[in-house]
Amino acid sequence: MWTDLNLESDFRFGDGYDVCVCGSGPAGITIARKLKESGARVLLLEAGGEEWTEESHEFYQGESVGPIEYYGVESGRLRFFGGTSNHWAGSCTRFERVDFERKHPWKATGWPISFDDIYQYEDEARRIVDIDEQSFERPDEPAWKSERFETARYAKSPPTRFGEKYRAELEDAKNVDVVLNANVVDLRLNADKRAVAEVVVADYKGQEYTVAPKFVVIAFGALENARFLLNARSDFDAGLGNQHDLVGRYFMEHFDVTLGRFVSLGSPFWQARGGFGLNPTAAMMRDKAIGNCFVSLTPGANPKFYGRLAPFRRLMRKITCSSDILLERARRENTVLCEGDGVVTTIMEQSPDPSCRVMLDPDAQDRFGRARLMLDWRINDIDRRTIRTLAEEVGKALVTQRAGRLRINRDILETGLPDLGMHNHHMGTTRMAGSPRHGVVDGDCRLHGIDNLYIGGSSVYPVGGGCNPTLTIVCLSLRLGDHLSRKLGKA
Ligand SMILES: Cc1cc2nc3c(=O)[nH]c(=O)nc-3n(C[C@H](O)[C@H](O)[C@H](O)COP(=O)(O)OP(=O)(O)OC[C@H]3O[C@@H](n4cnc5c(N)ncnc54)[C@H](O)[C@@H]3O)c2cc1C
Repeated sequence: MWTDLNLESDFRFGDGYDVCVCGSGPAGITIARKLKESGARVLLLEAGGEEWTEESHEFYQGESVGPIEYYGVESGRLRFFGGTSNHWAGSCTRFERVDFERKHPWKATGWPISFDDIYQYEDEARRIVDIDEQSFERPDEPAWKSERFETARYAKSPPTRFGEKYRAELEDAKNVDVVLNANVVDLRLNADKRAVAEVVVADYKGQEYTVAPKFVVIAFGALENARFLLNARSDFDAGLGNQHDLVGRYFMEHFDVTLGRFVSLGSPFWQARGGFGLNPTAAMMRDKAIGNCFVSLTPGANPKFYGRLAPFRRLMRKITCSSDILLERARRENTVLCEGDGVVTTIMEQSPDPSCRVMLDPDAQDRFGRARLMLDWRINDIDRRTIRTLAEEVGKALVTQRAGRLRINRDILETGLPDLGMHNHHMGTTRMAGSPRHGVVDGDCRLHGIDNLYIGGSSVYPVGGGCNPTLTIVCLSLRLGDHLSRKLGKA
């Protein structure tokens, strides 16, 4: 069944659903498809329609209230079928084994599950995002000899738009019902408050519905998963899963820091290679007590692609769109190339920190009366050390390898706080831990204390690594689909 609540006047949810999957981004769609294969009866609820609408998107309004302005609260996610995969860039990397094994320099707990627990699903996940022909093997690079950095590689999805690619399959499935323009607004627990009894849904006409599945998965993305749980106060004043005041805390991004610019590229090293990726070695991360990172060195780079310019680009777009003359001129140009120039950019791990968090805004509500989101994004001394150390060490490594010289971003050296960009990778707000004192979900992504409520997506990451999050989201979603199928006796 494929239903759009905007087009219905007298709709009722049926009975007998095994699993209600809420949210249709990469996480929700993957979980629904995995459960479909097992024969489970699945209901997939999506707040938006098949296209972007102002009506749905405005629920993502929120305020950045931390010491560092966060630009991606509203623009870094999409609220319609397919979710944020409708504008992801498709870069895929994965956590490294070391992210599961090493002693972290921060106090928060790490993954309670292993690398293999997650990446046993990697082959299947690669097919889902269309990168099965590409490899993550470290490039064998005899000319690069360093004890501080290993070569690294990422894969590039087309990028796969989950809504477009999997719509027909879901529509045709006999055991899956998809309902669009269905806002999940609350969860009501049963009498002993150990299980979800009802999912409460609202349409844009103000009509409310309830549905009573056996299992519920919330997969709204890491910002919204936290906002939703904090707002779900029908049974607990502090919200669902928040008995230890952990929901929304430990928000993590990947810093998009430009470490510096090449000032000399005289080396033959680059002629054969073009772009180049590096990860710090485990020994260096341990010795220097820093986080992980993917460093991209791109001589002759095209600055158009660097997130550091995002706020500036936004400002320029606003100014340009307000003037016909500027707009006409701008449309003749679409790249800004600085010949021979090059920047060293990063996907840099942010340390998990409880004070970096999603909260509810006491003064602003959405049209269903739920508090809007406030994000306090901040960095700490470990993050500053990670940024500075990586800049210095990349600079040294380039000189040692006779590959070039780097003019390190002056802000990093002087203040340790450069103009921080981010990648729209939202993580950590319902972190995974073996104990409810340290995390919101257990190793199966189940909310501690609630028997039938699960969380999908990168909000469960206890650490962020130096990797793009979506391939791992897909792996964890396949794993969750398997887990629920087993619970239902269908595996
Ligand atoms: C510009 C940009 C570029 C990116 N590039 C990359 C990249 O190159 N590589 C990478 O790995 N990642 C990238 N990402 C991140 C990637 O898009 C996310 O990691 C991924 O989409 C998260 O998937 P998700 O299913 O958890 O959440 P989303 O994709 O955000 O999906 C959440 C879904 O839940 C729905 N929803 C929300 N609230 C409700 C509600 N109350 N009721 C019902 N449904 C609801 C939404 O409509 C949406 O469909 C990028 C993101 C952006 C913004």
